[in-house]
Amino acid sequence: MEKKKAIVIGSGVAGLASALRLAKKGMEVQVFEANDFFGGKINSVVSEGGFRFDRGPSIFTAPHYIKELYDLCDEDFENFEMVDFGKSFNYFFNDGTRLKLSTNKREIIEEISSKLNEDPSTISDYLTKAKKNYESIIPLFVEKSLHKWKTLLGSKFLKALINIPKYKLTRTMNEENTKTFKNLKTVQIFNRFASYNGSDPFKAPAMLNMICHMEMNLPLYFPKKGMFQITESIYNLCLKHRVKFHFNEKVSKINVEEGRVIGVTTNKETYNSDIVFSNMDVSFTYEKLLTNESHPQKILDQPRSSSAVVFYWGIDKEFSELSLHNLLFTDDYKKEFNGVFDLNETQDDPSIYINITSKYVEGDAPSGKENWFTMINAPINIDQDWEKETQRIRAMLVKKINKVLKTDIEKHIVSEKVMNPEFIENTYSCKGGSIYGNASNNKYAAFLRHPNFSKKIKGLYFVGVSVHPGGGIPLALNSAKIATEIMSKDFRLN
Ligand SMILES: Cc1cc2nc3c(=O)[nH]c(=O)nc-3n(C[C@H](O)[C@H](O)[C@H](O)COP(=O)(O)OP(=O)(O)OC[C@H]3O[C@@H](n4cnc5c(N)ncnc54)[C@H](O)[C@@H]3O)c2cc1C
Repeated sequence: MEKKKAIVIGSGVAGLASALRLAKKGMEVQVFEANDFFGGKINSVVSEGGFRFDRGPSIFTAPHYIKELYDLCDEDFENFEMVDFGKSFNYFFNDGTRLKLSTNKREIIEEISSKLNEDPSTISDYLTKAKKNYESIIPLFVEKSLHKWKTLLGSKFLKALINIPKYKLTRTMNEENTKTFKNLKTVQIFNRFASYNGSDPFKAPAMLNMICHMEMNLPLYFPKKGMFQITESIYNLCLKHRVKFHFNEKVSKINVEEGRVIGVTTNKETYNSDIVFSNMDVSFTYEKLLTNESHPQKILDQPRSSSAVVFYWGIDKEFSELSLHNLLFTDDYKKEFNGVFDLNETQDDPSIYINITSKYVEGDAPSGKENWFTMINAPINIDQDWEKETQRIRAMLVKKINKVLKTDIEKHIVSEKVMNPEFIENTYSCKGGSIYGNASNNKYAAFLRHPNFSKKIKGLYFVGVSVHPGGGIPLALNSAKIATEIMSKDFRLN
């Protein structure tokens, strides 16, 4: 029997995972990627002077979703080398308070309670609750489609619904954290987890406080070669399973005939296929590739998650007070998020995240030097003057880093590359440059993401952070799994 043909638009982590899963279903798979590199936002950049940077993500959680792909291919997950460095975040506050968190729950509790005068049992109970909520919510809201009756009528889902009052949906993350902890600095540390899916802790439901479980109850690993190893390893599995890649080939149209997909047209050619998986941002998929079809406007109009401004700095010195993950907090978190989500501007004194992979990844910086990925949360691109804004932000970052680390950082920057929301939007074709699709800034957000399939066009599926289940690498990997499972049922494949 002739193999069914599948086309995947985009080679982000969700596109790659989809291509692999489709190939394992026995399909002939082609991936079309607009850029000349694979991996979407998870790619690598090298700057002058021999510094390597992961261009996008730096926090690696839930490695078991990558293991699933290795298992699917009968490959040994030991080959995906990752390390638990024993350290998670170093936190710096403007008043000189510093915390060094490890990846050990007991030590985390000890550090927070001693430095911030919290009751150890309050932190312990909070983390236990995060674990319970995570374990009951994730299998239903993240690992299954919320757009299929089978999930919604299942006994586990109904049980989760009955438990909803426990998840404090009526409170925001910040309200719950303020009620729980004495010290506003502790509140700030736990509010921070809203940024893991590009949301605002002053709006996002308290249920999202469970995100800390992945970092504080579970080991925090890091891929031995850096985050790029994630997409590189899935890409290599794809090649082993005969997935064909077309780089520099942008899809300009999804071709539809009598309510079903028949293939795509790119800047080079038209290709036929039985199914199409779009890893392109869902809003742009409709706006640019499905111009003649009806659009689910309510879903596409939901507020977007945050974007980012990143400076990739080669630094000619080592800072012993910094670790792999470092956060220099603002004094006014509310003002910072208000700027990002309501005013579409970056406030003075934003929180700065500094990720330094050269602390652990061999060869990421020359000896005695460090590669600083220096990032702030930023509003999405609505045609601000990003050239001017990026320079303003740079000056603020330099000033704050100098104050907090008591240094003159400008003197130590020997190479620089920059990424801002406009660059993110143009490079990865994601609307507004939002890095996690829709924000989770209201309690209905989980139900207001686009399904992993088209309700109108047969053979069309959607994966990646802009659709269910949402933002971040683990969720993007789940979107690929859910979409492939739905497709298999639609086409009666094993
Ligand atoms: C600065 C930054 C920091 C981040 N930090 C973290 C973190 O610490 N942890 C975490 O889990 N996540 C983080 N993220 C988010 C994470 O990168 C994303 O959630 C994830 O990589 C998105 O994967 P994706 O498959 O949805 O899509 P993308 O990576 O956006 O890939 C989509 C691909 O589709 C291609 N494409 C689009 N349109 C077309 C077309 N018409 N034709 C052909 N190709 C097309 C694009 O070129 C791109 O390669 C971060 C992101 C950024 C930018």
